[in-house]
Amino acid sequence: MAEETIFSKIIRQEIPTPLLYQDDLVTAFRDISPKAPIHILIIPNKLIATTNDVVEDDELTLGRMITVAKKLAFEEGISDDGYRLIMNCNSHGGQEVYHIHMHLLGGKRLGPMLSV
Ligand code: 5GP
Repeated sequence: MAEETIFSKIIRQEIPTPLLYQDDLVTAFRDISPKAPIHILIIPNKLIATTNDVVEDDELTLGRMITVAKKLAFEEGISDDGYRLIMNCNSHGGQEVYHIHMHLLGGKRLGPMLSV
């Protein structure tokens, strides 16, 4: 059983964080340490530790994460210029919080996908 992270507390608003979106499946809020002018996290309400732990029953939730990303990108005014969606997995992927999340990054030209 995966251990809860700070994100579960944000979902339940035990740690007050302004929410940009919340429904029965997903929650979205701004990243505390933004890596771009717009940096939003979209997360499932259900605790899924890594993308390795996703199961078929999660497909609706994962699809919702993308439609919410699209909606927020539009609201933030970055749809036409474009943006990047990222999900990191485990140590090589650079995952820090073990509750899956989609990063929505934009507001400037983001450059190459990876710097090596
Ligand atoms: P990861 O590296 O796991 O893909 O990304 C985790 C992200 O969560 C980081 O960008 C980090 O800044 C963000 N983050 C970590 N703790 C908090 C928090 O308490 N509040 C918010 N809003 N973002 C957080």
